[in-house]
Amino acid sequence: MRVVLSRRRPMMLISRYVVPVDGPVIEDGAVVIREDRIAAVGRAANLHITPVIDYGDAVICPGFVNAHAHLELTHLAGKVPPSRDFVRWLKQLTGLLMTAPATPDNVAEAVRAGIAQSLSAGVTTIGDITRRPAWSRESLAASPLRAVSFGEVIAMGRLRTQLNDRLEAAASVEYQSDRLRVGISPHAPYTVEPDGLRACAERARRMNAPLCIHLAETAEEATFTRSRSGRFKEFQQEMGIWDEGIPPADCSPVELCQTTGVLGRRTVIAHGNYINDGDIKMIAESSSSVAYCPRTHHAFGHPPHRFREMLRAGINVCIGTDSLASNPSLSILDELRFLHQRHPDVAAHDLMVMGTIRGAAALGYGDEVGSLTVGKAADLVVIPLEAGAEWESMLESTHTPVAVYIDGVRKL
Ligand SMILES: [Zn+2]
Repeated sequence: MRVVLSRRRPMMLISRYVVPVDGPVIEDGAVVIREDRIAAVGRAANLHITPVIDYGDAVICPGFVNAHAHLELTHLAGKVPPSRDFVRWLKQLTGLLMTAPATPDNVAEAVRAGIAQSLSAGVTTIGDITRRPAWSRESLAASPLRAVSFGEVIAMGRLRTQLNDRLEAAASVEYQSDRLRVGISPHAPYTVEPDGLRACAERARRMNAPLCIHLAETAEEATFTRSRSGRFKEFQQEMGIWDEGIPPADCSPVELCQTTGVLGRRTVIAHGNYINDGDIKMIAESSSSVAYCPRTHHAFGHPPHRFREMLRAGINVCIGTDSLASNPSLSILDELRFLHQRHPDVAAHDLMVMGTIRGAAALGYGDEVGSLTVGKAADLVVIPLEAGAEWESMLESTHTPVAVYIDGVRKL
């Protein structure tokens, strides 16, 4: 018997503006979708495809890419307000996670809630960190989102003995597919000892998997890597896991990541809030990406982020939300609006690039999504505008997406 696959008819979406991101903005633009792919992008008047879906005063742009999130912490929204004291916040967060232990059901529930919020915000690709890979990946695999699920490894002080078990769980490929790829995340230089960082980097390289690390997030982190002292030492002592026998790395957090092999083309550095000129050079030479989390950065009161200098140095800077424990939403559009308001010197188009194609490149999906390019997957978002408004005004409004397509299928 011959099996006939059902084929979808091509269709054309039109709107006042199309922002392809990899080329100039198109007025009275159109995107033609054939099957799951983008078949054409241009002026609506030059393309003759029916049916047409006319979104009127709106912007059609690529689906947003959230390069750094923790969907399994979605249930912590508003429960641990960020403060200027990061270590105190971390202790509160750890306390909360210990008093309400994770179960397969509550992790799945939090991840599913995070997926729903991401989709309604126009996020179609995500870099998600998970301490419970088996539980969270099942929900991600069942969702339409494209993702890298970074299994998180924590192995500090006396918890070092857990390194292998954590790494095995993080690296499990049980749910891996074309659209759900497994990555490894040694949490941070203050929660994974240097031998653990090396082991994570080696494992990721062997698997050809992406890496993500929280790096240079606070000033205290450098005190810890240089001399194994300060507030992260106190933190480990309070948790009863301090190991006096581990020598200090005697270098900056970024240097430590360089010498342990964590930096590299497939590495996403989350935050990078405390970065000096030498660090910028080292990160640029390693071709690592930086996921800047603007509103989380602001909520903790860190000094101004050096994202513009990083971009000038050739670093791929993309955007993350971090978790709802430190951020009011999982919307990359909200992050871009925040940046647009605070940094009017940065062109709206450059912000869009950071929120889409740069994130896709950081997560290893750059050939498939991140721009409205013929041949890429039809992942796109429609954001309404006021009548007659310029496209950039989408960064000044509070309008949420009215439609989200993934692989050419409407998901919102
Ligand atoms: Zn994070």
